[in-house]
Amino acid sequence: MKAIYLDRDGVLNQSIVRQGQPFPPQTVNEVAILEGVREGLIKLKKLGFLLIVITNQPDIAREKTTIEEVEKINNSLKEKLPIDDILFCPHDDKDNCDCRKPKPGLIFSAQKKWNIDLTNSFLVGDRWKDIEAGINAGIKTILIDYGYDEKYVEPNYSCHTFGEVTHVIETEFSNNINKKL
Ligand SMILES: [Mg+2]
Ligand SMILES: [Zn+2]
Repeated sequence: MKAIYLDRDGVLNQSIVRQGQPFPPQTVNEVAILEGVREGLIKLKKLGFLLIVITNQPDIAREKTTIEEVEKINNSLKEKLPIDDILFCPHDDKDNCDCRKPKPGLIFSAQKKWNIDLTNSFLVGDRWKDIEAGINAGIKTILIDYGYDEKYVEPNYSCHTFGEVTHVIETEFSNNINKKL
């Protein structure tokens, strides 16, 4: 199976930006799905992609939120969007886990679980840690660039909206089909 690996905050739902830095919604009520996401995901699903969300949620380790609250938000996204699975890392840097992006652990866990072919898959993220995780796993990367005040890692494609992301993947997909014909 080929897959689109999607970051959560800033890709599916709005991040709350303070002083140039994005933060996740704290409760289900704060979740606002971004424009073009639902339509885009429906199109990508029709092209045969699995839709897998991989997200860092270090506020769990920082005791600013709980696993239950994060799962409530994840479940509400699953209800509204055609997502196949959501994997999250609850750790912070000091835990030195294998799953916190830019490490590729979440990508490989989902690969094993869903038998994903990474060569035909994409990663979509809004921060350098997402892009670097994709690079570390050897998959094509797409950045939704909000110009955050943080480190920049060069993706394969740079976009500004989910509509553009969908278009990039559709174009790559039809180019690949043409190559095989
Ligand atoms: Mg994000
Ligand atoms: Zn982790």
